[in-house]
Amino acid sequence: MAGIYIHVPFCRQRCLYCDFFSTTQLRQHKEDYLSAISREMELRRNYLGGETIQTLYLGGGTPSLLAAADLERLFKTLDHIFPIAHDAEVTMEANPDDLTPAYLRTLRALPVNRLSIGIQSFDDEELRFLHRRHDSRRAIEALEACREAGFENLSIDLIFGLPGQALARWASNLKEALRLDVPHISAYGLTYEKHTTLYRLLQAGRLQAVDEALFLEMFSLLMERMETAGYEHYEISNFARPGRRSRHNSSYWTGDKYLGLGPAAHSYDGGSRQWNVSALLPYLSGMAEAKPVFEKEILTPQSLYNDYVLTRLRRCEGISPTDLVIRFGKGALSYCMEQAAPYLKRGLLTEKGGTLHLTREGIFLADEVISDLLWLDSATKPEV
Ligand code: SF4
Repeated sequence: MAGIYIHVPFCRQRCLYCDFFSTTQLRQHKEDYLSAISREMELRRNYLGGETIQTLYLGGGTPSLLAAADLERLFKTLDHIFPIAHDAEVTMEANPDDLTPAYLRTLRALPVNRLSIGIQSFDDEELRFLHRRHDSRRAIEALEACREAGFENLSIDLIFGLPGQALARWASNLKEALRLDVPHISAYGLTYEKHTTLYRLLQAGRLQAVDEALFLEMFSLLMERMETAGYEHYEISNFARPGRRSRHNSSYWTGDKYLGLGPAAHSYDGGSRQWNVSALLPYLSGMAEAKPVFEKEILTPQSLYNDYVLTRLRRCEGISPTDLVIRFGKGALSYCMEQAAPYLKRGLLTEKGGTLHLTREGIFLADEVISDLLWLDSATKPEV
């Protein structure tokens, strides 16, 4: 199983909190970008060793800024170069503002069969603070328009823990999301990433982060409400109706190969990871000269083990000892269980049906627990 990710690095405006790579210069660079992506597909056609593509994901940036004709061109090239499964999951990220009935009709004629919509909040004041370009009414209309156009496989993103956000406000956001009955919800606590306006405002003392206790209450409320509504909490930040998990993101977490196209896109081929330059002009000139600009890391048993522990513990399936031994040997299992012991005792980890999982309390402290299970240096090297 393999996937392809295409990074569309254009946004109409930059949101306050975002550290994804994107530029607002769509008009100036769109044509060169589309040519460069096609060129990259040609240059890297063998990266996945001819494996059939089961998932395609257009992320960004804002892929919904591309016109239907641009998307059609991308899909045609993809189809020409890669073997794509007839039932592939094809996700496109979209901004609610772009999802007009006319645009959605054109999308229906393309291979897109799943939309991931950056709603973030149903509260207009919060949306203004985040510097989003839609309001809550537009978000609701966009969801209705998606359904009318025949898109049922929908996901929305929500953010909680905004400065000054009260628990009741988060609760009403969740209520609205549940009323709209979207089959997949990704909910993230707001983080203050360096190089964002949000981070600079925090550093300048112009806003205050929510305190940890309130943040945890919000997370707890999220889990409770989603569980009561029948969603499966299948990854720390992701909830799905049965059968509606994101196949693309799940394949990242289970270690499948993927090819990332476009500036800042990451790729993984089972033995190494590489990432394209996070700047548009070097990306474009690299592709024009058939000399892609990227960095590459050959994965050691240590980094493979660490990725495995990190991604498995974030998922509801947890770590299976049998699988861990098959992949990394008995030494790795003993090491993992030794590191896990204090957390099992504190009730942050549990062994259910022979597999190791984060408990509900453990989910709140996931970073701490996971980092202690990682293989950090040669002094703690498991014998594999
Ligand atoms: S959150 Fe999305 S729309 Fe906003 S700047 Fe980031 S990529 Fe662009």
